[in-house]
Amino acid sequence: MKYVGAHVSAEGGVQNAPLNANAIGAKAFALFTKNQRQWFSNPLSESSISAFRNNCEKFNYKPFQILPHDSYLINLGHPEKESLEKSRTSFLDEMQRCELLGLDRLNFHPGSHLNTISIEECLKRIAESINIVLDKTKGVTAVIENTAGQGTNLGHTFEQIKYIIDNIEDKSRIGVCIDTCHAYTSGFDVKSAAGFIETFKKFSEIIGLEYLKGMHLNDSKKDFGTRVDRHENLGGGFIGEGTFEFIMNDNRFENMPLILETPEESLWEAEIKKLYSLIKPPTSGQ
Ligand SMILES: [Zn+2]
Ligand SMILES: [Zn+2]
Repeated sequence: MKYVGAHVSAEGGVQNAPLNANAIGAKAFALFTKNQRQWFSNPLSESSISAFRNNCEKFNYKPFQILPHDSYLINLGHPEKESLEKSRTSFLDEMQRCELLGLDRLNFHPGSHLNTISIEECLKRIAESINIVLDKTKGVTAVIENTAGQGTNLGHTFEQIKYIIDNIEDKSRIGVCIDTCHAYTSGFDVKSAAGFIETFKKFSEIIGLEYLKGMHLNDSKKDFGTRVDRHENLGGGFIGEGTFEFIMNDNRFENMPLILETPEESLWEAEIKKLYSLIKPPTSGQ
């Protein structure tokens, strides 16, 4: 079963996210559990937490269909001690919010070396940050998102993601989310059938499919290998519809949140319908 949805608004409180998801026919959703442009927000209120849980139950969203995203400010591999500490404290708060909401995974961008430390040193710091936070929380998997490799952002190769995972103590609580836009602009040819096959063959060989905990379904405003992170609505960018048809007909992407982060949100309802329509009926005799 495929669970397609979008990164919906939680304006007015996290309890509104499942309502917004249901309103567009989503079978999965992503949300920010706090203002994503701030380091810290007020704690979640008891009433907000119980309303979130009730709304998820009412519209039948289970934790495996929900992929919260952390704040963009956090850099778990920050070269400077003070900013690293702030990032770790903020990430812990994000994980604890997920715990309170009964969620089982939190999606984040690994971190940036800012041309101050080596790639390896930065990856080690990221792993150390994750270990510290996993040690202080329960039941929530930290889900590393592949990046476009813009600026000094790490996580744009499978080897870098694998290096982080290798340094995680509790491997049952580390996962990966693949963003199709980031994959394409960072140099994975997910556009052609052969390139798509090769990309996920590599993923299974280098990282392991058991770590895949979600996908971001985005087309790209920028071309292959540009290492620029600019999402486009499905079919309107350089990737095109084919990649999404591959995904919708591939059972490796079952039972995990498949999340649209496309810019024009008025199109989400139609994009979700479109994605489901790409599923081909099983051919007889196979
Ligand atoms: Zn993404
Ligand atoms: Zn992006």
